[in-house]
Amino acid sequence: MQELASRTEDLASRDERVIADSMRLRQAPLFVDRAQGCTITDLDGRDYLDLTAGWCVANTGYGHPRIAEAIAQSYSRLSFVSAVSVVHPGFVELAEQLIALTPGSWRKKVTFANSGSEANEGVSKMVPMATGRPRMISFMGGMHGMSAGSAGLSAIPFVTRFSGGGHVTRAPFPNPYRPVFGGTAEQDSAECLRFLEEQIFVQLAPPEQTSAIIVEPIQSDAGVIIPPDSFLPGLERLCRKYNLLLIDDEVKIGCGRTGSLWGCEQVGVSPDIMVIGKSLGAGLPISAIVGPAQILDAVPLGHAFTLSGNPTSCAAALANLEVIQSEGLAANATAMGARMMSHLRDIQARHEWIGDVRGKGLFVGVELVRDRHTKEAAGLETAKLCYRAFELGMILQYMGVRANVLEITPPLTINAAEVDRGMAILDRALTDVENGLVPDDRIGKVGW
Ligand code: PMP
Repeated sequence: MQELASRTEDLASRDERVIADSMRLRQAPLFVDRAQGCTITDLDGRDYLDLTAGWCVANTGYGHPRIAEAIAQSYSRLSFVSAVSVVHPGFVELAEQLIALTPGSWRKKVTFANSGSEANEGVSKMVPMATGRPRMISFMGGMHGMSAGSAGLSAIPFVTRFSGGGHVTRAPFPNPYRPVFGGTAEQDSAECLRFLEEQIFVQLAPPEQTSAIIVEPIQSDAGVIIPPDSFLPGLERLCRKYNLLLIDDEVKIGCGRTGSLWGCEQVGVSPDIMVIGKSLGAGLPISAIVGPAQILDAVPLGHAFTLSGNPTSCAAALANLEVIQSEGLAANATAMGARMMSHLRDIQARHEWIGDVRGKGLFVGVELVRDRHTKEAAGLETAKLCYRAFELGMILQYMGVRANVLEITPPLTINAAEVDRGMAILDRALTDVENGLVPDDRIGKVGW
């Protein structure tokens, strides 16, 4: 025990010494040894129920045996070739599958990359060039990545620190809990669309100079903001009316999480371009832009990285898509999401500082406020809640432009007993924070 404790301490100080703050966001002092299914085990052998899926990557659960086998086999047969310069079957097969699995029957092609940021970087470079229209529109609160071009499409505080995106106009995104224009959720959504058409198109981004609108069907990092079901179809209508491409960023919510393979299917929208990442490779780096051939062919060698579409990541992605479909994980997301929402509504009734609970499938948000009337964000308390959940054996994370929203996104393989256990831990952690069990100084080095 003594030896294990010193192993953790040693790793903590080495982490501090050598890993730059540019890539550190620690929400709990978790030192991981291994993970299986929905359980992460730390270096001391302690198990945690994971309600994050590692930022929505482990949709098929950690260490799925069929995916592990596919990766091992692929690597021993062909450890690497660069798909930029030679052909291997996995690369072509994955592109064919993505074309078949995404909405729209027009002639599509695929550009692979290694991360969500890299895929959206490709979009920000190639779409204006291919269409000859330099401007793009994105939404306030949108998160599309941290590389220069993808950061330029984003509009969330930790990314808007960087300059860039001079060709991008950011439009308001409807927020049912905190309506931008006031009124009901539906009125707010209609106002956002009206503002886009009557103000932004007229004053800032004339459609004839604008190539595309990029949107997350549900905003994720902004704090699980689920617009009314009418918003995305309304946006699609505007795109058709003004001849703009609709780009759907499914990096976080895709691959079954919302209860259908893609989030846009929940509201019957067919985007022109879809961007897929995170969970696509079940933990191996791979992302994809799926879009019209005439757009993705228009800039030859415009977005080619040495490792894009490498054999191992493609094998992981093919096995991953097969598991999501054959195990009915989208349907499980619907069922387990409903079960979780029902627990959360009960919990909300007992804890005054839960301002709002919302979700689609297993993409669930809990917004914490100091006062239900003023909706003052409970940022510190949210950090404490995640810390307390960690002490009680559960990994929870929080997001949001006010850092006060729990983003609950477990692996889609989660079962009813695990949902029930997770919600019981959450209930207890809320009570413990209310009773002052987590002192302020505990939060010093963790959190946003
Ligand atoms: N798009 C969305 C919707 C995201 O949530 C993120 C990451 N949070 C990205 C793109 C960027 O993905 P990555 O971190 O893989 O670069």
